Amino acid sequence: MDSPGGGTSAGRYAPSPSGDLHIGNLRTALLAWMFARSTGRRFLLRIEDLDDRTSHEVAQRQLADLRDLGIDFDGEVMVQSRRTEVYDATIAELTAAGRTYECWCSRKEILAATRAPHAPPGAYPGTCRDLTASARAARRASGKPPAIRLRSQTSRFTIVDQLIGEFTGAVDDFVLRRGDGTAAYNLAVVVDDAASGVDQVVRGDDLLTSSPRQGYLATLIGADVPTYVHVPLVLNPAGVRLAKRDGAVTRADLALVGVDIDHIRGLIGRSLRLAGPDETPSAAQLLARFDPQRLPQGPWIVDPAEMW
Ligand code: GLU
Repeated sequence: MDSPGGGTSAGRYAPSPSGDLHIGNLRTALLAWMFARSTGRRFLLRIEDLDDRTSHEVAQRQLADLRDLGIDFDGEVMVQSRRTEVYDATIAELTAAGRTYECWCSRKEILAATRAPHAPPGAYPGTCRDLTASARAARRASGKPPAIRLRSQTSRFTIVDQLIGEFTGAVDDFVLRRGDGTAAYNLAVVVDDAASGVDQVVRGDDLLTSSPRQGYLATLIGADVPTYVHVPLVLNPAGVRLAKRDGAVTRADLALVGVDIDHIRGLIGRSLRLAGPDETPSAAQLLARFDPQRLPQGPWIVDPAEMW
């Protein structure tokens, strides 16, 4: 495994406080912690609350669950809703360098435009990219606050994932700041990872297709592109990402059916081939056994009706 030098490199876990963590989230967090600690990195926690600002209590519960699972963090917890000025400063720099533009498109308009034949799926079609000065002035005069988009100079970017290998994906003129003034997820993630020395991003593989956009943006703000590790998600028996509606999946629900946090850690350890049946190893024991080469490659299927 790579062994980063300098002692300042870091991994992180970055939950959104939209609800209690479930066993799939806890598994991803434990993996992120083991990838970081086994390579001598610091491990940081970031609360991604740009969309869920009122969820202070949820964030506190998430933190308690992670701690009780045995995950330890370095330094201060970073909270995105307190970092508006930092995001705005980065957008101002990109704008000064001619790398952004204002966009007044509604979701509906974008959807209609991307349905056109030959439009790259899911990519912003560039409607506002090259507006004439008078068209732009008319939109400004409408009073509708614009979103700020990246003026991308590429349509593809390649990142390196430790489990998947090279991954090339689409980069479009994605949103950096929404019309309501909130920094967009893709911008905030890149700015925060760069600001805190994160050079290893371990997260669910549902975010793999965001990585080319984020990696490209990192190069534009003068940051190194991190090493990515996208881990398979936990799925329900129907093959859909595990969610609260699937039954007892959070720590609080599981406690009600007699499964405590040590058992949860044991189940996760077993799913990662790091623990035997009925064993309840500590996080430190799992870390000592951790070997990325031996991780199962497919998703972990969990059926809450059968499992506990
Ligand atoms: N906040 C995101 C989530 O909870 C994770 C973002 C990331 O790890 O880059 O899904």
